[in-house]
Amino acid sequence: MESFDLVVLGSGPGGYVCAIRAAQLGLKTALIEKDDTLGGTCLNVGCIPSKAMLESSELVHAANAEFAKHGITVGQLSFDLTKMLERKRGIVKQLTDGIGMLMKKNEITLFRGRGVLRGAGKVGVTSESGISEVQAKAICLAMGSVPVELPFMKFDGRFIVSSTEALGFESVPKRFVVVGAGAVGLELGSVWNRLGAEVTVVEMLPNVTPFADVAAAKMLQRVLKSQGLSFRFGAKVTGAEVTGNEVRVTLQNQDNKAEEIVCDRVLVSVGRKACIDTAELDVVGVAVKNGKVVIDDHFQTNVPGIYAIGDLVRGPMLAHKASEEAVAVAEILAGKPGHVNYNAIPNVVYTNPELAQVGITEEQAKEIGVPYKVGKYFYKSNGRAKSLGAEDGFVKIIAHSETDRLLGAHIIGARASELIGELVVGMEFQAAAEDIARTTHAHPSLGEIIKEAALAVDKMAIHG
Ligand SMILES: Cc1cc2nc3c(=O)[nH]c(=O)nc-3n(C[C@H](O)[C@H](O)[C@H](O)COP(=O)(O)OP(=O)(O)OC[C@H]3O[C@@H](n4cnc5c(N)ncnc54)[C@H](O)[C@@H]3O)c2cc1C
Repeated sequence: MESFDLVVLGSGPGGYVCAIRAAQLGLKTALIEKDDTLGGTCLNVGCIPSKAMLESSELVHAANAEFAKHGITVGQLSFDLTKMLERKRGIVKQLTDGIGMLMKKNEITLFRGRGVLRGAGKVGVTSESGISEVQAKAICLAMGSVPVELPFMKFDGRFIVSSTEALGFESVPKRFVVVGAGAVGLELGSVWNRLGAEVTVVEMLPNVTPFADVAAAKMLQRVLKSQGLSFRFGAKVTGAEVTGNEVRVTLQNQDNKAEEIVCDRVLVSVGRKACIDTAELDVVGVAVKNGKVVIDDHFQTNVPGIYAIGDLVRGPMLAHKASEEAVAVAEILAGKPGHVNYNAIPNVVYTNPELAQVGITEEQAKEIGVPYKVGKYFYKSNGRAKSLGAEDGFVKIIAHSETDRLLGAHIIGARASELIGELVVGMEFQAAAEDIARTTHAHPSLGEIIKEAALAVDKMAIHG
């Protein structure tokens, strides 16, 4: 039986990164993946294909709504959805093939099949050709997550779908209902809205993106509404019935009255659940609580030598969080101090405008009773934002009122996903708001909005 220092189950941004870092550190490493392609949810049906479709649909929107403002005439606009989907698939293929190349480059042994726990230090690989077994000094579970299905509206892959199918409708649905106003629902709702669908988002809570700064979430809601998305807040879906080519979605609205929305497709995006049932965890008794694998502060499960990371464990379900945990596990196994700073994990919604945040919200600061001050600056006051035609948005910085240390930052606006990086670095380095405020930012740039917001923390904004 072949023996490895580390066997990783799952090739998402958790698993493949863990394997690469372990191999770099000299550990003999194997990776097991049950799907045909590497890269997990993120590369195949998550982060990457969604951003490809967001970009294509954004260009359609720009040509429709923005070009004329620049004096550009395009005549009758049309788009080829098949080509758009091909482009998306091409990007996914390049990246997933790239993971295969990285496995070879780092001399990681790749097993195709489902990894299952077989006993102390033993992992089985089950595939069509049978079962093989490998020996592992350490095991890292990185089996990720799958979409949550509502028991009263089961996925049928065609009319009632998860994000996987909603990334690749072969024609634009005329009427599209999205259940859940989190990142995935808003991103995919935006894609199909920009391509011409009538989109209704049904959300149980009173706002979009419940994890976000309330003012930022409200602004996002307002702008998305102006783009044509309609919202039903405080509404609970109760069922869906497919008749012919239509879906009748029933819901209990905010006045507790039953309502029906007829549509062509419905996306259920109410969250994801950890894949705790693919690897026979009970064979060795890996503990699971509230649907997630339980780990200690060093990512180890209750079974010595078995670690777990990514969507499978506590914390936000984000690709970069999975990758940071992956590196930490590999480094711990190599005798280094692996660590993840959970206070500095950015979270982004790639709508237009984008919403990005790191650290605590103002609401959380109040709740935990930390003394804080706020600096805010608006995109509309920034020259670069004006020239981009991107005046919706603001940067809000929350700093400790005594130490001035950054506690959180919230950006809604163009390129927030890129801008947040500066504030994440600031938080990693335990920067004060004044450190950001006194740093020279290129002019004209959106970065100046961050500088002005940091200056505003101590009422020093120059253009505010
Ligand atoms: C539409 C959508 C958009 C998203 N956008 C973003 C975004 O913009 N930014 C972001 O940070 N996150 C985003 N996410 C979330 C992100 O994709 C996940 O957080 C991330 O992929 C989790 O990584 P992971 O390695 O833990 O698991 P996964 O990526 O889910 O990978 C797990 C892998 O394990 C394999 N597997 C499962 N069981 C076994 C087994 N027993 N043996 C072998 N293999 C197994 C699976 O086939 C899969 O390949 C998005 C998700 C979706 C659905």
